[in-house]
Amino acid sequence: MIKDLSWEDIFTPEDFSEEQKMMLESAKEFIDREVWPKKHQIEKKDYALIEELMKKLGELGFLGISVPEEYGGLGMGFVTTMLVCDYISGATGSLATAYGAHTGIGTLPISLYGTEDQKKKYLPKLATGEWLASYALTEPEAGSDANSGKTKAVLSEDGKFYKITGQKMWITNAGFAELFIVFARIEGDKNITAFIVEKSQAGEGFSLGEEEDKLGIVSSSTRQLFFNDVKIPAENMLGERNGGFKIALNALNVGRIKLGAACLDAQRRIISNAINYSNERKQFGVSINTFGAIQEKLADMAVAAFTSEAGAYRAAKDIEDAITENIANGMAHNEAELKGIEEYAIEASILKVWISDMAQISADKGIQVYGGMGYSKEMPMESAWRDARISRIYEGTNEINSLLCVSMLVRRAFKGRIDLITPAMSVADELMSIPSFDIPDYSELFVQEKEILTNLKKAFFMLAGAALQKFGTDLENHQQLILKASSILIEIYMAESSILRSEKMTKNGSNSDIAVKLSQIQLFNSIEKIKQNAIAGIVSFTEGDEQRIMLSGLRRYTRYNEYPNVIKLKTEIAEFLIKENKYAF
Ligand SMILES: Cc1cc2nc3c(=O)[nH]c(=O)nc-3n(C[C@H](O)[C@H](O)[C@H](O)COP(=O)(O)OP(=O)(O)OC[C@H]3O[C@@H](n4cnc5c(N)ncnc54)[C@H](O)[C@@H]3O)c2cc1C
Repeated sequence: MIKDLSWEDIFTPEDFSEEQKMMLESAKEFIDREVWPKKHQIEKKDYALIEELMKKLGELGFLGISVPEEYGGLGMGFVTTMLVCDYISGATGSLATAYGAHTGIGTLPISLYGTEDQKKKYLPKLATGEWLASYALTEPEAGSDANSGKTKAVLSEDGKFYKITGQKMWITNAGFAELFIVFARIEGDKNITAFIVEKSQAGEGFSLGEEEDKLGIVSSSTRQLFFNDVKIPAENMLGERNGGFKIALNALNVGRIKLGAACLDAQRRIISNAINYSNERKQFGVSINTFGAIQEKLADMAVAAFTSEAGAYRAAKDIEDAITENIANGMAHNEAELKGIEEYAIEASILKVWISDMAQISADKGIQVYGGMGYSKEMPMESAWRDARISRIYEGTNEINSLLCVSMLVRRAFKGRIDLITPAMSVADELMSIPSFDIPDYSELFVQEKEILTNLKKAFFMLAGAALQKFGTDLENHQQLILKASSILIEIYMAESSILRSEKMTKNGSNSDIAVKLSQIQLFNSIEKIKQNAIAGIVSFTEGDEQRIMLSGLRRYTRYNEYPNVIKLKTEIAEFLIKENKYAF
């Protein structure tokens, strides 16, 4: 937000190393062979099948991608963990959810916060799939307000064990997990504390509810957990007493960005299936993809997928680089990872929200391309749509994550970690000056787009700066306004990622003609959303001259001097997709 980037500053999927491409291919090959053909079975609440697939993934090493080698994993970098998560997750949300819960929020708290003994004891089992893991934070009365849980942990008089009592709800992998990361409160502590619970040692006080009957991800095991004086050894406390909320949040930071990744291949598959179907399905004597109405949907889906990939892998490499730098500066591996991921917590929320929304929208368009057949369980669109729905709810709802994007940014500004004041002040000055009416030379690629991206950032600072000035710390009580600002922030990150990715492709000469078009449409879409949100935001707390100045500033900051021919671009994108008969990026 505070500086303009060049294509050289970002990593894109086109930059995958040979090793990463191999990982991608083997993950994809596994899913195509073992999972995609069993989709109908997976839609019949076959929890055992998901457990079996998880075990196979463990045998092949896919559960230990991010676990350090010394604990039996492959110790691969963040980009590789993202891309494996991406390609494992495309065929069905049931496996995606089991995989995400096990490798992310189930295993990570131990690799990040575990003692040496805990890591040695548990990580090798989790990396190989000998044990499957589950993460139990949510309770009937504590969902988004996760730190308010009532589950208690009481230390025995001899200090040797804790007794856990309480109830957890919506716990993924509960049906087959051996290890549970459980959050409970010790006495009257302000924050919850994390514990490692082994099912086979938990005794009779531990029991499971029935499988939840869900809209989607129907073969993902989701059950309640009941703890009634469940005795666990004192050394099974994870991290510090009172430190569980921090663990929960840091695990979720990773969980969120990985959830973004988990919504990528689902989009690719939706598009490729939709293109394929639209090639074959004939109406009025021709393939339906000769109709502009269908072409527009195919193009829209490809724009969303291309941008989703651009944002996800840009942030993944930023995180990987931050971790590498922290290690080079002498930090221990887990500390380096924690700090690296925390640095990009805003991006993690941005990606979770945007990509999960897009996966849902694409699945919806996919159904529409299939017409009546899209509504049938025979076809893959119906389950794709139902499965996509959950990604907007778990790992922090999209509302919570959207609010977090802005509140984290503001908090960092208050702490002096980032200077938001200078850009906000310079925008305020600029608003009082007379704009230039010269039209620059746009003949070089993306000159106009980059100028617009710079301006969109100014639009954000104009709105956020004025809102902060008006409400100060009370801004947190104006959620609708924060959500407008958040949507602007999110759109800027995604549109910029898309433009820089296609610029990089142009410089490197790969598939760039269509990529440029995809990113131009993305920017156009983002500007439209930004305008709408900014207008609603501005008029909600300004009036008179201030409002007029801001609205005119917004027009200046969202203006094209030369509009893209959106219909022509979408037609060309669709023609390319139809020719390739798949999403070819
Ligand atoms: C299939 C499934 C699997 C899950 N797996 C796990 C798991 O493995 N482990 C685990 O611990 N949990 C899991 N969850 C729980 C999930 O993380 C929660 O459902 C989610 O965090 C939302 O909490 P809630 O359901 O209590 O909704 P609520 O918190 O009651 O929210 C209801 C609505 O109010 C909004 N809202 C709430 N608070 C605010 C606020 N402050 N500002 C604005 N809006 C707000 C929400 O955005 C939402 O729209 C799972 C849930 C499902 C459905």
